[in-house]
Amino acid sequence: MKGLWVADGCVRLRDDLARPEPPPGWALVAVATAGVCGTDLQITRGYAGFAGVLGHEFVGRVAQGSPQWLGRRVVGEINVGCNRCRRCAASGANHCERRRVLGIRDLDGAFAEFLVLPEQNLHPVPDSVTDTQAAFVEPLAAALRVTEQMEIADDARVLVVGDGRLGQLAARALHANGYHVDVVGRHAAKLERLRRLGISIEKQDGGGYDVAIECTGNPAGFATALAGLRPQGTLVLKSTYDAPVRMHPADIVVNEIQVVGSRCGPFAPALQALANGSVVVDDLVDDTYPLDESERAIQRASEPDVIKVQIERA
Ligand SMILES: [Zn+2]
Ligand SMILES: [Zn+2]
Repeated sequence: MKGLWVADGCVRLRDDLARPEPPPGWALVAVATAGVCGTDLQITRGYAGFAGVLGHEFVGRVAQGSPQWLGRRVVGEINVGCNRCRRCAASGANHCERRRVLGIRDLDGAFAEFLVLPEQNLHPVPDSVTDTQAAFVEPLAAALRVTEQMEIADDARVLVVGDGRLGQLAARALHANGYHVDVVGRHAAKLERLRRLGISIEKQDGGGYDVAIECTGNPAGFATALAGLRPQGTLVLKSTYDAPVRMHPADIVVNEIQVVGSRCGPFAPALQALANGSVVVDDLVDDTYPLDESERAIQRASEPDVIKVQIERA
């Protein structure tokens, strides 16, 4: 089997990988389309110490599994818990200490011909959602996690800091949910993609935002998000940082800011938003490469003006 293999910060396409064998209750999925995400790029630089097949945003077809799944077009949740611990019982796989995570921790990922996942992780994809769109379900679900973690008032003003992969989806998801969203970013061409959808790229003078969602992954973004908040506002951190963030805790203490870490989110509303067209993603795809050229796809995804690169089974 072919797959894009990462180990010790080195990425290369291999054609000598064994096709994974699904354990009982798992399915073998033939990957159709997969998206390159910022986390993948971080892993190629050594983040998480992962060795294996990269990739966790995908859509594919079940090639082996139980009769109700066989042949279906699916997307899949990426966390696989132990199913025995208190975290698994309380809130599912996402915070299991022994979890495996597709293409990130102890489980081979989606930049390959096939992957395996537990059938309970799978979600069928409606016919009206294309493969290109379905490969956005995982990151869009992550963007929607914010709405699961907190009650955002209908009249809340939300600041999204960052115009890249995460910022685009966070802004589009909250805008689709009817919130007033302003986005700040550093890339005119990326901001323009939001403005075309009617999303504001003007930051209110003086800030005073109820919620600020930090999606840049750099310390300057953290400071911008914090400075944008009203007292008792909520700072949501979506990005995993490569470097420590310097901050004065007093800014958080005095203004009684709530800081919320936010990772993986709900697939059902993400699929629904793509199916009903309330969240548009087609314009985010800059380039698509066949699996055979996946090394180039990773390079392309690292370029500054690129938002999304996808890899297709040829
Ligand atoms: Zn991702
Ligand atoms: Zn567990």
